[in-house]
Amino acid sequence: MPLFDHPAFDGHEAVHAFYDGESGLKCFIAVHSTARGPSSGGCRMWAYPSDEAALEDALRLSRAMSYKCAVADLELGGGKAVIIGDSRTQKTPALFEAFGRAVEQVAGRYWAAEDVGLTPGDLAHARKFTRYVAGLDGHPAASGDPSPITADGVFRGIELAVRRAYGSGLNGATVAIQGVGHVGGFLADRLKAAGARLVITDVNEPVLREVAARTGAAVVPPLAIFDAEAQVFAPCAMGGAVTLETLGRLKGRVIAGGANNPLASAEVGRALFEKGLTFAPDYVINGGGIINVAAEIRALDRNEAYDPAWVEAKLSRLMLTLDEIFQRSTDERRPTHEIAAGIARARIAEGRPSA
Ligand code: NAD
Repeated sequence: MPLFDHPAFDGHEAVHAFYDGESGLKCFIAVHSTARGPSSGGCRMWAYPSDEAALEDALRLSRAMSYKCAVADLELGGGKAVIIGDSRTQKTPALFEAFGRAVEQVAGRYWAAEDVGLTPGDLAHARKFTRYVAGLDGHPAASGDPSPITADGVFRGIELAVRRAYGSGLNGATVAIQGVGHVGGFLADRLKAAGARLVITDVNEPVLREVAARTGAAVVPPLAIFDAEAQVFAPCAMGGAVTLETLGRLKGRVIAGGANNPLASAEVGRALFEKGLTFAPDYVINGGGIINVAAEIRALDRNEAYDPAWVEAKLSRLMLTLDEIFQRSTDERRPTHEIAAGIARARIAEGRPSA
């Protein structure tokens, strides 16, 4: 595939490919921007159908991380790692040790954390070979699994979006969640506690059954989630869920969830705006996890302990930004994703925030 001319390349500072024959590691580390600080972003392990698909995912996700860090006003840039492989069958300590050596070679321009397919335990193996790993357990600066904080932000963002679209709260609203893994599972718990009704799906049957049992959610097959009678569609699985076709099937007026890059194209963003839907841009609503990771990086740099109050202050500010984006979308008659991208690009152009 072409690299420099690829639509997702978008001025990446560096794209690294690593191979380790003994462990079977095949991975890309994409560094989109370090203008605001070292790049950071989760590492995803996925059975990509081709190297091209993996590289494209890394590029798209790392650019989203630049935007996410900028909108959350963090002293971090955007990067992402993808490991090609099936996380259910191909994970070994040696694989993650090799990944740690790869991260070390990027020499601090990329901090890894977990994303789809990885746990803090996997990253602990990587940490033996590099200090540039966050989202771990077991040391004073450790921030642990970022998913609960991500889900917290997504929950608050859904509340804001529902208030904007329907003028009401979550009590009695129906939310359709696609993917009830780490983020979607915690989100389901929060929504249930707020009195929302849930319709859920997942391709992983045991996970689906467990979340349904504890939340009382109605379960539908994966493709039926787009037809659910729900006010909110919350994509919490992989990217690209909302296409022109699936958009036409949604019954509600809100799209807001944890998944990165949920819109299949910019055209979809425009189409949903023209239909009058409220879309919470992914890299705004799901920024809680990177804020949590940033708290760990900050604490490590300062030799301090993880500070939950700093995380809460950043997350609250981010939710105000999300609400400002909704307001500007109404006032300026422009899609939310265009407004959010404008904020992100302006902050990246400004460079490193002054302390
Ligand atoms: P996860 O792997 O724990 O959960 C994803 C779930 O989606 C899995 O249970 C999987 O079986 C399911 N799934 C995959 N394809 C599906 C499909 N076609 N239909 C239905 N279900 C499907 O991952 P996660 O950490 O919960 O992340 C979910 C999304 O949120 C990803 O897009 C991720 O990049 C994004 N995200 C996660 C975090 C975080 O803190 N974990 C932060 C920001 C963004």
